[in-house]
Formats: sequence, structure tokens, C-alpha cells
Amino acid sequence: MDAQAIVIGAGYAGLSAAETLRRQGKDVLVLEARGRVGGRTRTDHLDNGLWLDLGGQWLGPGQDHLYALAQRFEKRVWAMHTAGHNLVHLKGRNRRYRGLIPFRLPPLALLNLGWGFWRLEALAKRVPLDNPGHAVRAKHLDQQTLGDWLRRNLRHPQARALMQVAIESVFAAHPDDISLLHALFYLRSGGGLERLTSARGGAQQDRIDGGMQGLAESWRQSLEAEDVSFAMESPVHAIEQDRLGTTIHTSAGKLTADRVICTLPPALTLDVDFRPGMPEARRVWCRGLKPGQVIKCFAIYPRPFWRDQGLSGSAAGDRPPVHACFDATPPDSPKGILMGFIEAREAVHWAEQSQASRRQVVLGAFERYFGEQALAPEHYVDHVWATETWSRGCYAGVAAPGVISETGTSARIPHHRIHWAGTETATHWNGYIEGAIRSGIRAAEETDNT
Ligand SMILES: Cc1cc2nc3c(=O)[nH]c(=O)nc-3n(C[C@H](O)[C@H](O)[C@H](O)COP(=O)(O)OP(=O)(O)OC[C@H]3O[C@@H](n4cnc5c(N)ncnc54)[C@H](O)[C@@H]3O)c2cc1C
Repeated sequence: MDAQAIVIGAGYAGLSAAETLRRQGKDVLVLEARGRVGGRTRTDHLDNGLWLDLGGQWLGPGQDHLYALAQRFEKRVWAMHTAGHNLVHLKGRNRRYRGLIPFRLPPLALLNLGWGFWRLEALAKRVPLDNPGHAVRAKHLDQQTLGDWLRRNLRHPQARALMQVAIESVFAAHPDDISLLHALFYLRSGGGLERLTSARGGAQQDRIDGGMQGLAESWRQSLEAEDVSFAMESPVHAIEQDRLGTTIHTSAGKLTADRVICTLPPALTLDVDFRPGMPEARRVWCRGLKPGQVIKCFAIYPRPFWRDQGLSGSAAGDRPPVHACFDATPPDSPKGILMGFIEAREAVHWAEQSQASRRQVVLGAFERYFGEQALAPEHYVDHVWATETWSRGCYAGVAAPGVISETGTSARIPHHRIHWAGTETATHWNGYIEGAIRSGIRAAEETDNT
């Protein structure tokens, strides 16, 4: 055997699986298609010393494994800048507000939005995390989209528009492309809609100095010091298994192992030739979970000028394509960085356009929120996740109607000697880095128990 255990993928799930296997005393090899670790986290460094998290960036309360990692590798954790007023831009008008809900909306819109928020939270609480397919009336919930639910329950156009912004910022998918059952599961898995859309006390609270990929790099170095081997730029094409073990085919040749942990996102798992083939239910699950789509856009200014106007840099609005933006400035930087998201169907459209035209619409959106100064950044950077061969989208796979109730827990059921990890298999913090870490631990522990 080349290794007792082979882990496929060196994102957070793969690193976490590798560490758990090593602690069990196994010799471990990690195979990664890219030339770097971190997967859907990626930090690029600019010539002027600034760094940008082009992929996953935030952590928040409840993500205990991620905070523990940051502490272990002595990474400073800092809170995203939120002091000042947030902005909501609806029907061509900016309104200032603080906190999560813009209370200066027309009263009927506010009532409808509050009710919709509360109702979704209440429905989500009823969905069991270990198997959402066992929810009461699971089939009924899974036959409709979140978009159907929004049209029935949020009749006020401004309430619906704002809820759609919130939904797209959580799922990176259009509500009409998301099963209602999947949406409820996902919301509960991350502690609810309020937590997932909040900065203070929520999933967008904190950042890690040097970026999320830097943390993954530190983890890799510590694993190498514990004799975990890494083979980079080694995409896996096929996995054979028989009574005696597994043979993994990579572009560099064949490797053998007793156990395999596969951490690939569902859409990419379908490209691997499993012999014998993956169980049908898991194949249906992989096919049914389409990756969300995001373009993350940054404008770097000489200083964070919006703060002079008493603004936090957080803004949301109904005008496409940038529905949400945030202050991404590190605390000790003299520069000011605004980061905006183009998400879901807008991201599919804008991925096809030139970067120059994206720059124009993004700066136009920043101007609507923060004024003319936003039109003249020192730099503009954006990143289209659809074009990353080894991700093809993000933040995570989103289930279409019918998938979850049909496939149950098959995403996690081992296929003989192959165990499944990756954020999409997580019961808690599904879709997030924390979920990826927890999934790696769970899959590695299974190898000792089965
Ligand atoms: C723009 C963006 C913003 C996000 N924001 C946040 C956030 O703020 N907070 C948060 O918690 N999460 C966020 N996420 C989601 C988070 O990044 C992911 O949930 C998490 O990184 C997934 O980790 P994973 O290990 O499950 O999968 P991945 O990171 O996708 O790891 C899978 C690995 O497998 C490799 N691979 C693929 N195919 C093969 C193959 N055939 N052979 C070998 N290797 C292969 C890939 O290169 C990759 O390294 C964001 C993601 C993106 C892209």
C-alpha cells in the first residue's frame, strides 16, 4: 500500500480529515488537483502589500473549530468594520439604518419582511439536520422552490426584493433554483437566517489576518511536520476498489490505499470514474446539487472615505447586479477596500462579460451607495468562481426540488472503502468552512468504526 489512507482534496475538509486520520496513527497521503491548499478559500496578495480573500473569508459565533484553528496557528481574528450606518437602496433611494432590519421601510413592507423572516426561521427549526428527508411533510416542502414560498408569503414588492437579496447572499442561487426543504435545512444548519445574514453575532462577524488561505497553508505545514504527505497538482480520475483495498488513478499514476476519503464538491465528484460505480442515490444527490455562482469584486481606495459620511460600508439594494457590499479593509490598513458580490443568475450573466464592463457596473453600484468618490479606486479586482476548474462555483452545492427527500442520507453513507466528506455533507454549518472541517473529522472517524 502507498498509504493506509488517501484523502482526495486539500480544502478545509481534506485537511481536517488528514489530521484526524493521522491522530488515529494512520499514514496519510493527500491528493490535490490544484497547486495550492485551501480549495474554495483563496487569498491573493497585491504588490502594495494588501491581500484580498477572493473566496471564503468570514467566521462567526458557533464556528468553534475554525476559531480554534485560528488560535492554534496564532492568526489574529478581527471584526469586520461595522461602525456607522448601513444603507439600503430601494427604488432609486438610499435609506440609512443600523443592525439587520432596515426599520425605515414603508410600514407594510417592514411588517411583511419581519413576518417572512420569522416564518422561515420557524419552519427551519422543524427540519432534522441528520436527515431533512424525515421532516414533517418533507416531500411537500421538497416539491416547491424557495421562490414559490416567497411569492406566496411576501406579497409586498419591497419586502420580497429585500428577502431575495438576503437569500441570494446566503445561497448564491436564485430562490427559484432552490428546493424549499434544502433551504430550510441549510438555514437551520447554520443557526438560522438571522445568524447567516448578520455581521455582529452572525456568520459575517470576523476575519482572519492574512486571509483564509493563509490559515489553510499553516495547517498544511503543521500536517507535513507530522508526516502527512501531500501530492499537489494530482487530479484524481478514477477510484477502483475490491476486497483488498483501493487503487486511485491520478494524472501521475496509480496509488493504493486501504481507505479513501473523498472531499470533492458534488459536481466534481461526478467526473471521477468509480469502479464499482457510486450508489445511485448518491449519484442523484451529486447531480441534483448545483454549485451556486459568485463573482467577488473589490475596489481599493486611498482611504475608507465612506466612513467620513458616517457609513459602515455595508449596503444592500434592489438594483442589479451588486445587491450587497461590505467594508473589507483590514484594521491596520491606511487604504479602504469595498467588496461587492455579484451572485446567482447575475453571476452567470456577468461571468461572460469583460472585466472592464464588470468594473463599470460594480463601481456604478458603489457610487449609488457611497457617492462619486467610489468611481475612482486605485485598483479594481474581481474573481469569477465559475471559471475555477476545481470548484466551478460556490459557496456550495444547492439542491433542486426533489433531491433531498429522494436521497436521504446517501451523501454520507460510505461506498465500501470510500468515505465522503466536504462541506455539502455537513449537518452543521453546511456550505461553510466550519461545516467542511466538521465533515472531515466525521468521515475520518468513520474509517475506524466501519
Ligand atoms: C467567494 C466565496 C465566498 C465564501 N464565503 C465564505 C465565508 O465567508 N465563510 C465561510 O465559512 N464559507 C465561505 N465560503 C464557502 C467555503 O469556502 C466552503 O464551504 C469551503 O471552503 C469548502 O471546503 P471543502 O473542503 O468542503 O471543499 P473545497 O474547498 O472545494 O475542497 C475540495 C478540494 O478538492 C480539490 N479537487 C477537486 N477535484 C479534484 C480531483 N479530481 N482530484 C483531486 N483534488 C480535487 C479542489 O481543488 C479543492 O482543493 C465561500 C466560498 C466562496 C468561493
